[in-house]
Amino acid sequence: MSETRCGYVAIVGRPNVGKSTLLNHLLGQKLSITSRKPQTTRHQILGIKTTDEAQILFVDTPGIHGDQERALNRVMNRAAGSALTGVDLIVMVVDRGEWRDDDERVLRSCSAAGAPVLLAVNKLDLEDNPNAILPVLESLAEKGDFAALVPLSALRNQKLDVLEQEIVKRLPVGPFLFNEDEITDRSLRFLAAEIIREKITRQLGDELPYSVAVEIEEFKEEGVTTHISALILVERKGQKAIIIGHKGSRLRQIGSEARQDIEKLIDAKVMLNLWVKVRSGWADDDRALRSLGYDDGR
Ligand code: GDP
Ligand code: MG
Repeated sequence: MSETRCGYVAIVGRPNVGKSTLLNHLLGQKLSITSRKPQTTRHQILGIKTTDEAQILFVDTPGIHGDQERALNRVMNRAAGSALTGVDLIVMVVDRGEWRDDDERVLRSCSAAGAPVLLAVNKLDLEDNPNAILPVLESLAEKGDFAALVPLSALRNQKLDVLEQEIVKRLPVGPFLFNEDEITDRSLRFLAAEIIREKITRQLGDELPYSVAVEIEEFKEEGVTTHISALILVERKGQKAIIIGHKGSRLRQIGSEARQDIEKLIDAKVMLNLWVKVRSGWADDDRALRSLGYDDGR
C-alpha cells in the first residue's frame, strides 16, 4: 500500500467569506453518524474528509475574525487563538473582491499559530472577466507569506479539487486516525446549526453576522427519525418578530427548508423544532456568553 497522509486543518476567515460553504462542499453531502469519540483531544473536529491517500481532519476554530468590539468577539478570538495551536495547515478564506482590516487581523492570528497558510480566494464565480483575477491574486500574494494561493468558488464547486490537492500534499505522512466513513456527531450538530443560520440569512437578507445565533439543544436519533431542537437567539424583540413572521409563516418556511437540507445531509428523517428567543444584549455580556458555551475554557 502506498503511504498515507493525515493531519489537522483549520478553515479561518472573517464572516461571510464563505468558510461554511467551503467546508460543506469539501465534505460533500454523504455523511454518516458515528458514536465513536475522536482518538485525540487536541482539537474539536468538525468534519473528516477521507480520500484514497489522505485523511483531512477539519478542526473547529470558533470565530476567528476581526471585529474586536464586542464581548462575543473577544471571547471567540481567544478561543480561536488556542484552537489554531498545533494544526498542520491553515486554510484562510478571503473574498476575491476585497481585503479588509478584518482579513488582516485573521492573518495575524494565523501567523501567530505558525502553521503554513493556504489562501483560498473565494467567490471566483462573481468575476466575469478572467483576466481580472490575475492582478487580484498578485496583490493578495503580497499581503502575507502564503504557501499557495488557490482561486476557487465554494458555492459553485469550482477548483475545490485543486484546493484539496494543495491541502493533502502538505499533510504529515501517517496512518488514518478514523475509519473512512466516520464523522463526529459534533460535525452534524455544527452543520445543522449552519444550515438553519443559512436559511435565516436567506429569508432576512444579510444581517449583522453575530446578531443571530443558533444553538442546537437536542440532536437525538430515535429509530429512523432524528429529533433536532434548535434555539434561535436574537438580540431584540423586533428581530424575533421578523424571524417568526406573520402568524409564524416565516419561521415555518425556515424550518421546512432547513429540515429538507438536514435530511439530505444525514440521510434520515428529521423532526425539527425551532424556538426563537430574545437574549437582550447577549453579544455584549461575557457572562451570558459563558452560559451559552462560548467559553474559552479559562
Ligand atoms: P462564512 O461566514 O465565512 O461561513 O460564509 P458562508 O459560507 O456562510 O457564506 C457567506 C455568503 O457567501 C453566503 O451567502 C454564501 O452563499 C456566499 N458564498 C459562499 N461562497 C461563495 C462563492 O463561491 N460564490 C458566491 N457567489 N457566493 C458565495
Ligand atoms: Mg460560517
